[in-house]
Amino acid sequence: MTTPMDTPASATRPTAVITGASSGIGAATAKALAAAGFDVVVTARRVERLEALVAEIGDAARAIRCDVTSPEDVAALAAAVPHAEVLIGNAGGALGVDPVLEFDEDQWRTMWETNVLGLARTVRAFAPQIEASGNGRIVVITSVAGHQTYPGGGGYTSAKHAAAAVVDTLRVEWLGKPVRVIEVAPGMVDTEFSTVRLGDEEKAAAVYDGLDPLTADDIAEAITWAVTRPPHMTVARLDLFPRQQGSARDVSRRQS
Ligand code: NAP
Repeated sequence: MTTPMDTPASATRPTAVITGASSGIGAATAKALAAAGFDVVVTARRVERLEALVAEIGDAARAIRCDVTSPEDVAALAAAVPHAEVLIGNAGGALGVDPVLEFDEDQWRTMWETNVLGLARTVRAFAPQIEASGNGRIVVITSVAGHQTYPGGGGYTSAKHAAAAVVDTLRVEWLGKPVRVIEVAPGMVDTEFSTVRLGDEEKAAAVYDGLDPLTADDIAEAITWAVTRPPHMTVARLDLFPRQQGSARDVSRRQS
């Protein structure tokens, strides 16, 4: 595992804040960054999951409950971590697979409030300390759904397209500041994502039938690599697919 060699020489470990760290990509990223020399602040709504993660990681981790759709929670989180150097904006997900003409307003509102507004709110709240660190990194987990569309994906793809637009805009608006803005856009990753989306573990398992999807650890390793590059190098975007995936809608499944 790499070390945060691009951080200013300091007796203390740099701090990374990870939203949506109670499962999947966020939890794996917390473990990977802690192993790479960061102190990690893990946040999400399910506190018992966060506490189990802290117990696993040890002294390098602490947990703070934060629902990114709550302005109060996000403000309190940023106030509690005044020296963050890295922010991993990962909280998010999909709900449902309804066609656009049958969309469920509550599901779409939640997807937009989490993946777009929650992300922008978190970035805004942490901007002062990320910049003040002198070597800030903001990593946003978008998706292949942030760059391509597919039938039944209208709510999620529109939210992730918006998130990708926020990231691109931020990178240009912050030019000249000591902050790197990094987008990580995965294809299929085997986490709780599909169970949350479809509300059913059996249906979720079928999403990966005949496929070897990426793992949360695969994405965590890529994120760790991206944030440990030297300060002159921005990994603007990483598109990460399983070998059996060619686009948001094209996969090659093994026949059983
Ligand atoms: P996951 O296992 O379902 O994790 C989602 C995380 O987001 C959980 O920790 C959840 O924690 C958190 N979260 C959801 N709503 C939140 C809210 N309002 N406030 C704070 N945290 C919230 O799925 P995952 O695959 O690791 O997803 C992580 C990110 O990767 C998401 O942005 C997802 O869209 C993206 N992604 C996933 C895939 C994939 O195939 N798995 C592909 C591309 C992109 P709590 O429920 O405890 O709050």
